[in-house]
Amino acid sequence: MEMFKDFLLHVSFILFPIFLYHALWLSRTPAHFPKTNKLLITVFASISSALCIMYPVGSILDLQTGLQSIPLVLAILYGGYTAGIVAILVSSTVKFVMYGSFLWVGLIVVPIYFFIPFLLYRKWRQYSKQRKLLYGVLIALSKGMFIYIGLLVVSLIEYSPAFIMQQKLLELFFSTLYYIFFLVLSIYSIEFVKENAQMRTQLVQSEKLTIVSELAASVAHEVRNPLTVVRGFIQLLFSSDNTKEPSTNKDYKNLVLSELDRAQDIITSYLDIAKQNYYQIESLNLSKLLEECASLMTSYANFKSVTIHQSIEPDLYIQGDETKIKQVMINLIKNAIEAAPEHEGKIELFASKENHRICLYFVDNGVGMSESQMKKLGEPYYTLKNKGTGLGLTVTFSIIENHHGTIRFKSSLQSGTTVTVKFPEDTRRK
Ligand code: ADP
Ligand code: MG
Repeated sequence: MEMFKDFLLHVSFILFPIFLYHALWLSRTPAHFPKTNKLLITVFASISSALCIMYPVGSILDLQTGLQSIPLVLAILYGGYTAGIVAILVSSTVKFVMYGSFLWVGLIVVPIYFFIPFLLYRKWRQYSKQRKLLYGVLIALSKGMFIYIGLLVVSLIEYSPAFIMQQKLLELFFSTLYYIFFLVLSIYSIEFVKENAQMRTQLVQSEKLTIVSELAASVAHEVRNPLTVVRGFIQLLFSSDNTKEPSTNKDYKNLVLSELDRAQDIITSYLDIAKQNYYQIESLNLSKLLEECASLMTSYANFKSVTIHQSIEPDLYIQGDETKIKQVMINLIKNAIEAAPEHEGKIELFASKENHRICLYFVDNGVGMSESQMKKLGEPYYTLKNKGTGLGLTVTFSIIENHHGTIRFKSSLQSGTTVTVKFPEDTRRK
């Protein structure tokens, strides 16, 4: 019974912070999936590890199971090097204060112990869930192996080897099993919690999109046709008597036409959202498409005195819908041009292949955005421009998602923005 109690205690020491992280951080902003909070991870891992040290499981075969290293492994894998190292330092200090273990032992043990997690951290995010669980088993096994070798060395030096090994082997076997179970359970819980939070974010976003597209379907068609007619007649009206036309009339004409065009733009964006479901997927040469869009936007850029530079690797292929991808590129280039400062405005377009993904970069030296502004990107109607629609990025996000791609913004106020778009490479084409 005592053992069962200890067991439950450890389950709560390790799992409780995971769910608390979800409650405090991941569900804070339902419309956006938040960045990793490394500070919170460091604090939770340190406390959790310290608690495991203070209340060790002690009754199975006098087992020192050492579960305190699980939060540390998790801190490295999910929080990174700094989070891991800080948590390890805190945990070592607690251990030293409680049991007075020699610090120099820690100095040798720590690097070997946490070698694999440190190695895995860089790519950890990209692994699938199954793979992460598998690596969890591997990390636990490697720890068991390490203890086994350590025991072997100690017993060879100090005692009769055969005797010690017999005693310890069974213990080691159980403690490794126990460790595997806990580590895999923790990784599984974290992934579960994360998936849940991500799903909810997606749900909120698609909910918004559905509202917009329903509106779109009902309004757009009705309004577009009369608008086209009005535009035609106005053009006719103003062009009939050109010579006597006073200059104010000309101004009115331009104003009316530009406002009509704007209305058309809004409706087109609405229709694009409503038509999101029709995709014609084919193999696309993204390099050519980007060059095409860049030259398409050159006149707009010239008008704003902005220069466009390109560095595009040839023959980058993806599977996608040409019109939709073009729309994405034009939206992003247009935003970059509109953000860029007059006269010194400069936009750079890069395209390359990295790890089987086709990466596009749209870099501008424009006004940039603050953190809170960036969080709102993609929300329908979010715009800071006088004549903006706030629909460009909504459409862009949804198209990219439908192509299984990702989009990321990196920006700082006054110094510019880098938009990174990644698509899976078309592997069939080789
Ligand atoms: P719109 O361009 O009609 O305003 P978007 O959805 O395209 O709508 O963009 C929404 C907002 O995001 C813009 O109003 C602008 O404030 C901000 N934004 C987008 N791209 C950039 C960029 N490259 N630099 C600075 N701000 C940007
Ligand atoms: Mg825009």
